[in-house]
Amino acid sequence: MIYKEDQASLQGFLEDTSNLKTGHTPGVFFPETIEELSNLLKGAVAKRHRFTISGNGTGTTGGRIPMGDYVISMQKLDHISELVQIADDRAYITVQAGALLDNVQKKAEQSGWFYPPDPTEKLCFIGSTIANNSSGARTFKYGPTRKHISRILVILPQGELLNLSRGLCMADDNGIFKFTLPIAGDILLQRPQYSMPDTSKHNAGYFSAEKMDLIDLFIGSEGTLGVIAEADLMLIPLPTRIISCLVYFRNIEDLFSFTQKLKDPENRVSPRAIEFFDKNALGFLSTKYPEIPPQSDGAIFMEQETTPESEEADLETLFAMMEFCNAMVDESWMALDRDEQIQMREFRHALPLLVSEWLSKQHESKISTDMAVPEGKIRELFDFYRSSCEQQGFIYIIFGHIGNEHLHLNILPRNHEEFLRGKSLYRTFVSKALALGGTLSAEHGVGKLKAEYLVEMYHQHGIEEMARIKKSLDPFLVLNIGNLVPVEYLENKNH
Ligand SMILES: Cc1cc2nc3c(=O)[nH]c(=O)nc-3n(C[C@H](O)[C@H](O)[C@H](O)COP(=O)(O)OP(=O)(O)OC[C@H]3O[C@@H](n4cnc5c(N)ncnc54)[C@H](O)[C@@H]3O)c2cc1C
Repeated sequence: MIYKEDQASLQGFLEDTSNLKTGHTPGVFFPETIEELSNLLKGAVAKRHRFTISGNGTGTTGGRIPMGDYVISMQKLDHISELVQIADDRAYITVQAGALLDNVQKKAEQSGWFYPPDPTEKLCFIGSTIANNSSGARTFKYGPTRKHISRILVILPQGELLNLSRGLCMADDNGIFKFTLPIAGDILLQRPQYSMPDTSKHNAGYFSAEKMDLIDLFIGSEGTLGVIAEADLMLIPLPTRIISCLVYFRNIEDLFSFTQKLKDPENRVSPRAIEFFDKNALGFLSTKYPEIPPQSDGAIFMEQETTPESEEADLETLFAMMEFCNAMVDESWMALDRDEQIQMREFRHALPLLVSEWLSKQHESKISTDMAVPEGKIRELFDFYRSSCEQQGFIYIIFGHIGNEHLHLNILPRNHEEFLRGKSLYRTFVSKALALGGTLSAEHGVGKLKAEYLVEMYHQHGIEEMARIKKSLDPFLVLNIGNLVPVEYLENKNH
């Protein structure tokens, strides 16, 4: 197995997109087979090694950054098998964890199939997207990554292999999973005894639901319960036609009523994505796209699957809704062919790049929220974000997954004093989202940066539940320590 310990090789593993700068490690292992990966973990306790798992470093919460532990890079485990069709409308593809999401999606599309999960950043590894239950714009229609995974091969912290197909191991009426491992033998594990928020997206803490599937405990566990080594991803037929549009509004009230109409099942439209840009986000984008109407107070990006037969009728309905909601119809952008849709995708992706460029000149980190709230509550959170930032005189943008009641707020500090004020405001945003019945993280996860806020969400008892699960599967605390479950709950005997 390749092992590197020279500073130049290690440096890249000490960062992700979180700006956490305190990472350090004695060395990085690059397993090339599942057996090597398993043996590495089997030897961990005897050698007193702890490991942090590394994907491709696009995470936003410091999850892959080691704090003195060895790193396991998933880079070399990147095989993508041929896809297997199992019905007219269903296929699957087996991939190793280090395969790039972009490569998997392209391979599926070349054969006329579609893998729906679409975190905006495509240069992430498939294994990480499963470990983080990643989601994106299309989650509005298709749900998060967990909905599209039919099997995972997990290497448990002591090196044992657990091959979990969906439906193979379900919690019984008392919430107990029973399964057998080759070395450890029979295992009884109780699912977490807490309920999750009533949001359409949620990615903070271990999954828990009545009669849940064991596979769902591992999906979204941020590498704390095992290394995802391989998975079967479910595919559906590639949609034949897509309508994409970017609709501008002069008035934010009209924008919110348009969003409600798009979500109303009574209407003929059935979007797969409904995304939002506030006027400040449009301001950033207008440096690259001067055609953005300056009088616009916000915009909705919407995407809908259609067919050649129904495209015209779908467009008519859409235009009627735009007129009804006083959209700036003439200035709005409709993209019906693939090339223009790629341009529209580039438009959306330009925002984080423009913001990063701006921030790099200020030498400060942004403060970004990832909270989602239950259906019907996003307007209150949006107003709270906006009025709080205006009162404090911050530069900020609000954008993201309005269809899922999930908007990102980025505060962009101009100096360190603003950064500190923004950090303390972040705490009030967490409290507000939780008071609305929401979640601390809808998609980015908890990692190392948000563990303290997780306590506010689940309280001591809930965190103790997570620590109990973690210690049942990782009794010697070998894997991804410091991620998700606050360390004091793992090491302190009072918890
Ligand atoms: C511009 C931008 C936009 C983004 N948009 C979205 C979005 O829309 N939706 C979204 O959900 N996320 C988004 N993200 C976050 C990020 O892309 C995802 O969290 C992604 O899953 C991280 O993949 P990675 O390979 O880079 O993982 P890394 O950052 O390397 O690791 C992330 C975490 O996963 C763990 N991990 C990695 N591989 C494994 C494995 N095989 N088994 C177990 N644990 C593992 C790591 O230990 C770490 O805790 C965005 C990021 C950026 C920079």
